[in-house]
Amino acid sequence: MKQLRKIAVECRNIGLSYDGGKTEVLKDINLRIEPGEFFALLGPSGSGKSTLLRLIAGFNQHQRGQLLVDGKDITGVPPHARNIGMVFQSYALWPHMTVWDNVAFGLVERRMDKATIRQKVGAALELVGLAQYANRRPNQLSGGQQQRVALARTIVIEPQVLLLDEPLSNLDKKLRVQMREELRSLQRTLGITTVFVTHDQEEAMTTADRMAVMDKGVVQQLGTPAVLFDYPVNPFVANFVGTTNLLTGDIEHVNGDTLRFRAPGIGEIILPKHPEARTGRMAISFRPHTIRMAVGDAVRDGAYVWLNGAVEQSEFLGEFTRYRVRVGEAVITADQSHFSGTTSFAPSASVRLGIDTSQIRYLPV
Ligand code: ADP
Repeated sequence: MKQLRKIAVECRNIGLSYDGGKTEVLKDINLRIEPGEFFALLGPSGSGKSTLLRLIAGFNQHQRGQLLVDGKDITGVPPHARNIGMVFQSYALWPHMTVWDNVAFGLVERRMDKATIRQKVGAALELVGLAQYANRRPNQLSGGQQQRVALARTIVIEPQVLLLDEPLSNLDKKLRVQMREELRSLQRTLGITTVFVTHDQEEAMTTADRMAVMDKGVVQQLGTPAVLFDYPVNPFVANFVGTTNLLTGDIEHVNGDTLRFRAPGIGEIILPKHPEARTGRMAISFRPHTIRMAVGDAVRDGAYVWLNGAVEQSEFLGEFTRYRVRVGEAVITADQSHFSGTTSFAPSASVRLGIDTSQIRYLPV
């Protein structure tokens, strides 16, 4: 199949409510999905992701703002006139039709000539690796193959935009990982602007060029997976994208170089000055893999501040061990890389936690 023309999708100040304005589901959504981008909408259940996706498809109508596709406002244009392809979570294949007929359906509906249909369906099935299954029915296929039929059926009409609603959630873990790679490579081949809804941060991070993290109908942050992971703007994003430790406390600036962070139930931590640290109440966020664990004397290394704690629990995950360490009234998660022959920290062992101060983020609360 040929590369499709790359186009942008833009939401400007979009608001959507139900029950005559009582339930506000999308609040002032502003985002621009660049031409050819693979874009993920990530957030917990009920955050408004599907509502936004369905709005782009034309199944939901917003009351405020504009939706632009390829620079044109398509607010009010019905779904069938939008030339947008959507793959549903359930795949929605016709069980009584063969794979070939399922994929051909949209082209037959558009009254294309038989030779063109044959060529296009053949190319789409080839692209998703299902050419030899053309005569089967959906129930004779595995979950992953059904998913590919749903994709082939959608891309065969050469939509301007591809929308995917939790497309991998019906597959088992191993297949999910394989399919997300396939999906990504298919999207690259076609160059089609793609919007992907998921509640799974790993899925979003591994596939998306950029993503929007949503909560309570609001886009909390927009950016590449690495920027969202490294520079979250608030505690919600820090917690939702990856795993983190969050401590809330009060900041006092002591002198030119240091600040005092006083966290209830933990005590005082002296930290180097930081451009994001403001006097007053803030949260600090630091990732489990950036913590060093040691016993005995603290390792002297200016990059770390050390806290005393006791191991409460550990989980051996192969590549690393995840420890829950009690520090005062807080429990801190620390991941330690695992190599054969290394000893692990026993339950209730007294340990020191070294926090790499260059990896601490200061967040508003
Ligand atoms: P997500 O896809 O992030 O799980 P949704 O977009 O499905 O979230 O839903 C967002 C919110 O909108 C939820 O609180 C849901 O209950 C509400 N909602 C969805 N559809 C309707 C509807 N037709 N009427 C009223 N509320 C709705």
